[in-house]
Amino acid sequence: MLIVKKFGGSSVANRDRVFNVARRIIEDYDQGHDVVVVLSAQGDTTDELLAKAKTYCSLPSKREMDMLLTTGEQISVSLMALALQELGYNAVSLNATQAGMYTSSSYGNARLKNITGERITEELDRKNIVIVTGFQGVNRHDDITTLGRGGSDTTAVALAAALNADKCEIYTDVEGVYTADPRVVKTAKKLQEITYDEMLELASLGAKVLHNRSVEMAKKYGVELVVRSSLTRAEGTVVKEESTVEKMLVSGVAADKNIARIAVVGIEDEPGKAFKLFRIMAKENINVDIILQSIGRNNTKDISFTVDINDAYHAKEAIEAHQEALSFESVSVDEHVAKVSLVGAGMQSNTGVASKMFEALYDAGINIKMISTSEIKISLLIDERYTDEAVNAIHEEFSLGQ
Ligand code: ADP
Ligand code: ASP
Ligand code: MG
Repeated sequence: MLIVKKFGGSSVANRDRVFNVARRIIEDYDQGHDVVVVLSAQGDTTDELLAKAKTYCSLPSKREMDMLLTTGEQISVSLMALALQELGYNAVSLNATQAGMYTSSSYGNARLKNITGERITEELDRKNIVIVTGFQGVNRHDDITTLGRGGSDTTAVALAAALNADKCEIYTDVEGVYTADPRVVKTAKKLQEITYDEMLELASLGAKVLHNRSVEMAKKYGVELVVRSSLTRAEGTVVKEESTVEKMLVSGVAADKNIARIAVVGIEDEPGKAFKLFRIMAKENINVDIILQSIGRNNTKDISFTVDINDAYHAKEAIEAHQEALSFESVSVDEHVAKVSLVGAGMQSNTGVASKMFEALYDAGINIKMISTSEIKISLLIDERYTDEAVNAIHEEFSLGQ
């Protein structure tokens, strides 16, 4: 059997944790399985490197940031190979170039395109435990790229698909996927199973337990995932196509603070203005999420929308640069907003879910700034200060902890 095991940053944060993981790897190897391990950078290494870069350069280039950030994973894999060797096992660490993990050329947020994996197979044939750097790739210019924050999960799923692995296990610092972030909601309940679609929504809406692209890829290639803890033996959560456990109306609540609201006030109320505004965003490659247009008055209207927090000022500048064509009064950015979302495949056939969610926030005295719904989720934009309170209120209203 071929097993891909991925361990996140906290699971390999220090020497004790590295040896703890090494022993878990050995358990599988000793049973005669081929083991490929994917690792993230130790603890907060990636954040620390990011902060360090900012003290050297105010606007660091993406290429150099990728060179810098990928060193974190390189430290983890070599230390793990050393720990395994210390325990008397043959292990070899490989970076993305050696493992043949080819990506698009966009630094900072590259997409995996092709995995040759020949070297991995050769090393497995030599009975080595193979340790691969998560989060990184190599592009056609032979430059190192990164897959975006949290991208090691995607490395693991991609390798599991490319190598046709029998199992793909994602080890982290919680015991699985919960009905809400267990660090925020004390009564959050671990899910035995969750479908790819629900997990994809939760991950995309802010539940960082899995990188959303890893779920997308798992669905595409039918890779069944298990999310579980590296510190306990508890059974984790299985992420798969169809859930066999009783269908729940709602599977979870997620929150995302990394967004900002752009408000364009006093746009001339005539056909084509919204089109022009969002064409500018599209040209600038800025992803727009929730959109709200006010009812026109005095021949003007207001349009507000949310974007990723990292795109907010870029979006504002681009709009201001088109002041003449758009003819508006002012444009402002509010970074202190959060999106709180409820996800569940059962929602599409149930009325009253939205009103129950509004009621939860009303009872908690939290104002709703924007609303967006789809078949399987409802998202509300609120003041960032009340995020945890809102998540708890919604979780409670839908009795998700029971
Ligand atoms: P790793 O370093 O192992 O990749 P992450 O920090 O990226 O770990 O993801 C794990 C964290 O995700 C947990 O510590 C938890 O706080 C958070 N999280 C958010 N939403 C959920 C959820 N619904 N279920 C489980 N964990 C969640
Ligand atoms: N180390 C990277 C990050 O912190 C990748 C990962 O953890 O998955 O984003
Ligand atoms: Mg992660």
